[in-house]
Amino acid sequence: MNYIYYPYYFKKICDDYLLVNMVGEHIFLNSDEFKFMACEKYDKLSDSKIMELVSRNFIVELENREFTEDLLAIKLRSRKDFLNYFTSLHMVVLTLRCNCICDYCHASSAGLAAFNTDMNFEIAKNVLDKIFESPTSEIKIEFQGGEPSLNWDVLKYFVLDAERRIKFYNNRYLNFVICTNLFSLSDEQLEFLVKHNVEISTSCDGTKNMHDLHRKSYDGNSSYDNFVCNLNRVRKSKGANSCDALLTVTKDNLYCLDKVIDEYIYLGFHSVFIRALNPYGYAIKNKKELSYSTEEFLEQYEKALNYILSLNKKGIFFIESYAALLFQRIMTPFSTGFVDLQSPSGAGIAGAIYYYNGDVYPTDEARMLAEMGDQSFKMGNVQRNTFYEIFGGSVIKNLVENSCVESMPECSTCAYSPYCGADPIRYYVESKDIIGKRPDSEFCRKNKGILDILLKFIKENDMETMAIFWSWVNRQPMEEWEICGK
Ligand code: SF4
Ligand code: SF4
Repeated sequence: MNYIYYPYYFKKICDDYLLVNMVGEHIFLNSDEFKFMACEKYDKLSDSKIMELVSRNFIVELENREFTEDLLAIKLRSRKDFLNYFTSLHMVVLTLRCNCICDYCHASSAGLAAFNTDMNFEIAKNVLDKIFESPTSEIKIEFQGGEPSLNWDVLKYFVLDAERRIKFYNNRYLNFVICTNLFSLSDEQLEFLVKHNVEISTSCDGTKNMHDLHRKSYDGNSSYDNFVCNLNRVRKSKGANSCDALLTVTKDNLYCLDKVIDEYIYLGFHSVFIRALNPYGYAIKNKKELSYSTEEFLEQYEKALNYILSLNKKGIFFIESYAALLFQRIMTPFSTGFVDLQSPSGAGIAGAIYYYNGDVYPTDEARMLAEMGDQSFKMGNVQRNTFYEIFGGSVIKNLVENSCVESMPECSTCAYSPYCGADPIRYYVESKDIIGKRPDSEFCRKNKGILDILLKFIKENDMETMAIFWSWVNRQPMEEWEICGK
C-alpha cells in the first residue's frame, strides 16, 4: 500500500509515544511502532495499527488523499467554530460594592457605601446598545460585581430592556446569569430571577469552616450560613439543579479537596471546577497566606480527580469541570466556548466585560488589572466609542494576533497545542509580555500537568473510567447515556 503521512506532534508518555495531529486526533504507539511510523516503514506495522492510523487521519492511501483532506478541513472548521459567532458572552460589572470582604477577592470589591462604583442607567443603556450591535445570535449577559444584586434597579433594567429589544429579532436568543455570593436575597429578588429565567452562579469554598475562613461578611455573620439558606431557597424555587458554584482553591482547602467535594455533594452540586488561585486583586496582596506552587496544585488536583472518579464508580455522578472541558477538546471535534482553551484566545472575541463606568475590557482579568492601575487592555468606553472602535480596535487585534498557539514559540511544537489555548493577559501579568515565556508560565505548567494526568488515563483505556469521562463530556450520568451498554 502506498501511504503518505500528515504532520503530527508527538510526546513521550511513560514508555509510549502520543501522536496528535492538527485536528486533535490522537493515537498511542509503542517505541517500535513509533520508529516505523517516523521512518515510514508502514509494512512493519500491524494491520490494526494501520487501520487506527488511517481512521484518525495520520496516514492516508494516495488514492484517498483528496477525500481525507476534505475531512480534515471539516474537522478543523468544527474545532474553530467559535470564530463564526464573535462576542456572545457579555459580562457587566454592575457595582464594586459587596456585602462580603473575601481576602482573595479578584474583583477588588468596595465597601457597602461606595455608591460611586454603581453603574448608572445612562451607562447601562449604552452597554445594552453595544451588546445588541454584536453580530451573534446567542447573547448571554452575565451580571458581576462586587455583589451585582446590590445595584438591583439597574440589574432589573438590563433584564427588562434586553427582553424588550430581543423581540425585534427572530433568530436571536437571550440568556442571563447572575454571579452572586448568595449572602442576601430578598423574596422579591428571587421571584424576579425565577420569572425571568436568570441563571444563578455562586461560590463555595467547602465546609462551613473553609468557607467562612476567607469569605467574610461585613456584618460579622457567617457567610456560609447565609449562603446555604439562600441556596436552599433558590433550589426550592428554581429546581434542584438550578445553581452552579465556583471553588477558589487556597492553601487552606488545597490539602483537603476530598472534604470540599463531599461538601459539594452534600449541598446538591453535581460538579466542581478546581481552579487555581489567580494573581489579581486582593489575592496578590494576601499571596503569602493564600497561595501555593503549581506543583503542589497539580499533586492535589490529581488526588482530587482520583477521588471524584472513585465516587463516580460508586454511582455518584459528579464532574470535575476543567477535566470535562479538556476531555471535550481531546475526545470530540467541538470547541468548548472556554476562552482560555481556544486558539486564538477568546479574549474579546468570545466574551467581553463592561465595567461600571462604561470601560470595556476583553476579559475579567483585564478589568482586574485595570483596577490595579494598569489600563493596557482597555478596549474603549461605551459612551465615547462606537462598537467598531471598541471591538475592531488595536487591543483586540493585538490579542488575537498573539494568541494563536499554532504559531507561538514552544506551543507550535507542543503535542498538547490542539487541546490547549492562550491566556495573553495572564502572561502579561507574569512577564509584561502578552506572548510570554510559555514553558515557564504558570498557565503552561498547569495545563501541561493536567493534560499529562488526563492523557495517562486515556492511555490506560480502562472501559469504566472512559465511560465516566464520556458522561462528563455529555454532562449526563452514565445510566442516561448508553456508551457502556448499561
Ligand atoms: S469575591 Fe465576590 S463575594 Fe467576595 S468580596 Fe469579592 S466580589 Fe464580594
Ligand atoms: S501553553 Fe504549554 S501546554 Fe499549552 S500548547 Fe503551549 S507549550 Fe503546550
